[in-house]
Amino acid sequence: MNHLLSNPAFKMACDQFDAVANFLNIPEALRERTKQPKRMVTVSLPIRLDSGEVKVFAGHRVQHHLTLGPTKGGLRYHPAVELGEVAALAMWMSWKCALADLPYGGAKGGVAIDPKQHSQAELERLTRRYTSEMIPFIGPQTDVMAPDMGTNEQTMAWMMDTYSYQIGHAVPSIVTGKPVSIGGSLGRKEATGRGVAFLADRAIDLLKLPDDSRVIVQGFGNVGSYAALGLAKYGARVCGISDVGGGVYNPKGLDLHALQAHVERTGGVSGFDGGDRISNEEMLVQPCEVLIPAAMDQVITARNAGKIQCRILAEAANGPTTVEADAILRQRPEIFVIPDILCNSGGVIVSYFEWVQDLQSFFWAETEIFDKLYRILDRTMDTVLKESRKHNIDHRTAALSLGIQKVVNGKAIRGLFP
Ligand code: GLU
Repeated sequence: MNHLLSNPAFKMACDQFDAVANFLNIPEALRERTKQPKRMVTVSLPIRLDSGEVKVFAGHRVQHHLTLGPTKGGLRYHPAVELGEVAALAMWMSWKCALADLPYGGAKGGVAIDPKQHSQAELERLTRRYTSEMIPFIGPQTDVMAPDMGTNEQTMAWMMDTYSYQIGHAVPSIVTGKPVSIGGSLGRKEATGRGVAFLADRAIDLLKLPDDSRVIVQGFGNVGSYAALGLAKYGARVCGISDVGGGVYNPKGLDLHALQAHVERTGGVSGFDGGDRISNEEMLVQPCEVLIPAAMDQVITARNAGKIQCRILAEAANGPTTVEADAILRQRPEIFVIPDILCNSGGVIVSYFEWVQDLQSFFWAETEIFDKLYRILDRTMDTVLKESRKHNIDHRTAALSLGIQKVVNGKAIRGLFP
């Protein structure tokens, strides 16, 4: 897999793994086996555009390990998607699922496309073609997809329909994050963002910060918006929000409902008149109690890690903090990091609930879903904090080592075939 190392995200995921493998003293015979992705599939997707022209897109799916159950993870539509990045995201899904004790390995899919430049009809043809190319590799007991950046409930509905059409009957458990009307779970759409808000609020209490703590969120998609709304409900003051087009900042707090209406009208945060215009880069270094990167990976870097002014860094995105930035954050113990594989795990936890409900054709009430979700998040955060105290290690190393150790144990006890 060395050819993937030219991708910075994959290199970052491997560096994180190597450091934790040294810390855990994982035997050589198990290291590479645990680190390398099990299966990587790349397909070319010829799609007829509305103009009649045919364009070919590259689609990937990486299944990191199949030791503990089917693989699980989102499907991303973004112009910068490449195999190495997808492989990194699949690895992070593995540690995330293991940390939350879900019976899954990690996976991730991606198509290099900018969904904003395409009609719904084109995206439907792309999704159906991608699903049909992936049929030999996916299944409710093999690999279960979900939404990620650039995909949503509608994408999952098309995937489920395409798969079910092949099988001959409805198979809702083939994807999670689909509409409730076809077997989706109540609460799945909000789960990642509400989970982030729940954990950030717990950290606010732990650090005895004021109830109306200032919050800054980078990204106002599904995750960022529900995280901001959730924290506002807990009493926090959301002062800054940005997206790809720039941000808006108001130290007195933003009117989130007015901002949401603006985003629906104009497609972005930029131009909202409830605060000052501010760039993405500046937003990250404004003073606040809670900073939530909820967009791309690798945004907290060696350049800005020394300058961020938060008390809590709640990583809603996958891989937002580079290895170099992490080294700087370790010298800043005043910053309480909620690492990504814990912070954003609410999404995949409720995906697991959705899969279980689909397999049993027995559906739960929303209160039951959030009760169960918050209990798992609470317990997992406690475990990470305890591990961190016990070994005097940072929260990320603690979370990664708990996840990685679980996968290593599974591989060791199952043995090596043949
Ligand atoms: N794409 C989400 C993530 O990165 C959710 C994955 C899932 O629900 O399977 O965690």
